[in-house]
Amino acid sequence: MAEKAQHPPGAPRYSDVCFSSRVPHPKDSADTLDTFRAAAQFHATFLNWVYTTDADFIHQAGAQGLKVQITLSPTLPDPSSEPPKRNTGRILNSDGKKVSVPWMKGWQYWWGCVNHPAFRRLWLTYIRNALDAGAHGFQVDDPAFSQIFLRNKWEDVCYCDYCKAKADSLGMAPPEIQAQSVLDFHRWAKAEATTYAGRVVPFSCNNFRGEWELFPFAEFDCGVAELPERRANSEYIYASLRETRRLGKAQVFSFANDRTFLVEKVIATVYACGGNPLVPWDVWMGSGKDRYYGKPEDFAPLFGFARAIEPWLDGYEDAFYANTQDEFRYTDVRKLPVFFGNYRRQVHAFVRARPGESNAPVIIHLVDWEVLTEPFEIFFKDKAFFKKGIGRIELLVPKEYVESEHELAQKNKDYSSLLVRKEMHAGKGNNILKLTVPAIKNSWAVLVLYPKRP
Ligand SMILES: [Zn+2]
Repeated sequence: MAEKAQHPPGAPRYSDVCFSSRVPHPKDSADTLDTFRAAAQFHATFLNWVYTTDADFIHQAGAQGLKVQITLSPTLPDPSSEPPKRNTGRILNSDGKKVSVPWMKGWQYWWGCVNHPAFRRLWLTYIRNALDAGAHGFQVDDPAFSQIFLRNKWEDVCYCDYCKAKADSLGMAPPEIQAQSVLDFHRWAKAEATTYAGRVVPFSCNNFRGEWELFPFAEFDCGVAELPERRANSEYIYASLRETRRLGKAQVFSFANDRTFLVEKVIATVYACGGNPLVPWDVWMGSGKDRYYGKPEDFAPLFGFARAIEPWLDGYEDAFYANTQDEFRYTDVRKLPVFFGNYRRQVHAFVRARPGESNAPVIIHLVDWEVLTEPFEIFFKDKAFFKKGIGRIELLVPKEYVESEHELAQKNKDYSSLLVRKEMHAGKGNNILKLTVPAIKNSWAVLVLYPKRP
């Protein structure tokens, strides 16, 4: 049974296409990249995780129908400093020195103190300027602030005058007040933004690999984070997004890889599990490597498909999950609503339904994790879906890439031409339906199961 999820206000919907340009492009006349052109090529609706204070850029994005999410971080530069300086309201260690994290060694990227009034003013200035320009919400990088130094034992912090005075008044040592101070800071910032904008302003954080346990990720409504390659598999993505939903949160995953097929499978699986994959464009791949810019011919068919199946994504929640490796010895799989026969394949079935609507079509996202895909058989227990059983079954798949079709769909905001629809015929015996699904070319296929008419 699908249960209603409390989707956080302002977070991307299941059918949204999240796109990131870490900095606005073109940066100068030599830059051949163009953020808005690329966003349109992938049918983006959100512009996430952008490092900018450029009001014109934010305004222009809004005018193109993109919801913009501006990035805030503990190393925000002092306003109007050129070249950027990072001295205002910073954390001090017990020797009175400003601090930074090991991966920023030598950059003079000093971290701000959440108790320092000057840093709080700076933070609020960034928020207000972005909201004035039309920003939708914010992404906070490294939201642990001083706690990251304490928990990793990198520095003993914070000994600025404000932390010392606050700790004194509480009869505690300055490091002991940091965790609560960081939480108070994020609550204060969200409340200020909400009052200023006159609406709920969504804040997300960079919750690496989509986890919520590490401090202070649970404080945020939404995560926008990298999915590491070792977690790029269906089982992890499903479990992580199941937990996200259980907590009433939302998750955007960033994943890029040299192997296009792997990126394709992650995109399909994240959508199939109720998350949002970030379009793989402008992604850092490690020091010394070029940034990654995914090509529309590789990935626009999947994102266009997500827009085209909007009615089958929004409002739907997880109801069941099965894969070709389910264990016959432990579970009588023939009693499950969905099962497979062939353990050598790598097909995953994500069943989603509309909570409380027993006659709404049930959706099964099929993601084939094989590189060389083949036709396969899938079985349904008829009565597990609808009282009177399953009637029609439709197969929807992304259409092969044709640039002009994508341009037209984007221009008309009508994406229905970006999918291929096929009526399917299942065999039946013992209240079990057997369906042969043709090889899935672009990793992702959707079955729409309609109830049998009385
Ligand atoms: Zn301090």
